[in-house]
Amino acid sequence: MTDFTVNNTLEAQTLEWIATQQSVMVQNLWTLASINSGSYNVEGVNKVADTLALWSKVLDCELEYIPMPPHEVVDDFGNRNQKPLGQALRLFKRPQAPTQVFLCAHMDTVFPIDHPFQTITQLDEDTINGPGVADLKGGIVVMLKALEAFERSSLQEKLGWEILFNPDEEIGSPSSSALFGNIAKRHHLGLIYEPSFADGNLAGARKGSGNFAVVTKGKAAHAGREHHIGRNALRVMADFTSALDDLNGQQQGITINPGFIQGGGAVNIVPDTCTMRFNIRIEHSKQQAWCEAQIAIILATINAKDGITIELHGGFGRAPKVLSPANETLCKLVQSCGESLGLALEFLPTGGCCDGNNLAAAGLPNIDTLGVQGGKIHSSDEYMVLSSLTTRSQLSALILLRLAQSNDLAWLKREGMESMPC
Ligand SMILES: [Zn+2]
Repeated sequence: MTDFTVNNTLEAQTLEWIATQQSVMVQNLWTLASINSGSYNVEGVNKVADTLALWSKVLDCELEYIPMPPHEVVDDFGNRNQKPLGQALRLFKRPQAPTQVFLCAHMDTVFPIDHPFQTITQLDEDTINGPGVADLKGGIVVMLKALEAFERSSLQEKLGWEILFNPDEEIGSPSSSALFGNIAKRHHLGLIYEPSFADGNLAGARKGSGNFAVVTKGKAAHAGREHHIGRNALRVMADFTSALDDLNGQQQGITINPGFIQGGGAVNIVPDTCTMRFNIRIEHSKQQAWCEAQIAIILATINAKDGITIELHGGFGRAPKVLSPANETLCKLVQSCGESLGLALEFLPTGGCCDGNNLAAAGLPNIDTLGVQGGKIHSSDEYMVLSSLTTRSQLSALILLRLAQSNDLAWLKREGMESMPC
């Protein structure tokens, strides 16, 4: 009846049940992806949370909404603003069970409410295009179905779980990342539902990342009559940007990308303000200090000039994800679950980052690309493979079942875990 190479009938029955759920999953994905939930669309993000709260009834779990502090951003004119964020939603069940698993998925997308990309299109029988269908609403559907399948099994008492649906991942989890430190202490491992790579493989090590804004202030003056008393904020920013960009290539694995610049207005006025944004990626955490020191030197040189100020905002929000021995073992467990499903899964390093970085930095081994198979994320060509809803739910369900069946999780035991019988 089954072609799964599984350990026992319990696994086979669970996987077969998931296969009967494909059309429900497609319908749920359509519902979620039809709600605009750009990171700053508070109403939309909260609507996703309410929908998930409703769907969670089938899991018969505890539920908590967590208000998030606003995100402080520097606008394009160099002013600080507080942008409100949607609420996080936390679901949990059996916090006293011997094995504790943390599951995480973000509700926000990179597409704001006024972005032209708002609708879902069927590309072919097995592929759809739509905002957030891969990143990460497909993953939410996968996660919930895998848990539902697990809860139907006779092993549920062996394993407790906690889900965090966060509202701000696409802007670097500025508010929700504060929750990860405590969460990491309560769990043996983390499962995160970012999409897999387009070829179906999963992410292993990840680079760390920082987002920064820099504002230069000079002095406005008439470009003809009093040019000499002006202090040109654009020129200062050009100096800063050149010096910053020259740091590229000085250390293996560090990339610095000035990505946005705005300043000035009419060309007969010496511009007094300029704003620039940049991103840095690093391979090792010690590279963060090197970058910060180099930038401090450039800033000090510019600040020493007469009538000019330069101010830096932002910082490194995500530490590099380096795979610990426990994380390597977890990867092998996931690979063996994949093999049972006929999936040959490789773990590949990537320059991209996600909440898996923050969890790894907090000491929690995690797999962060357990969502659907898809690609071209963060663009209007974002697509996902519909049949991966079933295969990836089966993968996650199998991971949960094998964790629950395992008598030896000593490899996941860590220093500093709170009340974690192993
Ligand atoms: Zn994502």
